[in-house]
Amino acid sequence: MPFSYRFYRRFWEGIDWLFPPECAGCGKFGERLCEMCRQQVEALLPPVCSICGLPLRGEGDICPDCVAGKPYEALRSAAWYNGVLRQSVINLKYKRDLGLGDTLAELLLEVVRQHEWSVDGVVAVPLGRRRLRERGYNQAAMLAYPLALALGVPYGRGVLSRPRETESQVHLSAEERRQNLAGAFQADGRRAAGKSWLVVDDVTTTGATMENCALALKAAGAQRVMGLTVARAGKFLQTADNT
Ligand SMILES: [Zn+2]
Ligand SMILES: [Zn+2]
Repeated sequence: MPFSYRFYRRFWEGIDWLFPPECAGCGKFGERLCEMCRQQVEALLPPVCSICGLPLRGEGDICPDCVAGKPYEALRSAAWYNGVLRQSVINLKYKRDLGLGDTLAELLLEVVRQHEWSVDGVVAVPLGRRRLRERGYNQAAMLAYPLALALGVPYGRGVLSRPRETESQVHLSAEERRQNLAGAFQADGRRAAGKSWLVVDDVTTTGATMENCALALKAAGAQRVMGLTVARAGKFLQTADNT
């Protein structure tokens, strides 16, 4: 474990000692996500499409939706967006429960290790300026930063930006999300070019956010883009994949 990651974890342990947390799942005092609740997290297990990471129904290792290719090389999520994990993401995102970023980054680290992904840097899906101002922090950065420390690679602050503010996507269809996000992201060519990037977000709903981040990075010359989120919303769930 790199020293900087150890230090980061100690920092949050210190915060927990000063301000003991409550479990995001069951409310138990003293832990951010207790052992019992962790066991309820429903991992997204193989076989999945080797590109988009959704469960496969038929033969082969690529789903029909990905045959034509995607702007990213692979997209994965640690688990399904339901139960205690959904509540954890909501608490991280809307209730300023920032220590959960450190906790949930452990799930991301596990996925990276399973896939033996080798990347040159980690970036967070950026928020628009207005939303960042309202919320005060970017929940994706709270996941991406400790993950970069754990992997011992640079955290690409500012490599990806969001110059255009977009509508909330909660009630949009997959196609509408794609259009809503087209051109929303921009990558810094001087830093992005020639490298493999791991793009981190909290939830994947349709994958439109990741596709557009990957398009921006590739347009800036990035070599490979992997997407990784804590949770994947099921087909029948309406979720906030909007920020
Ligand atoms: Zn619990
Ligand atoms: Zn697929």
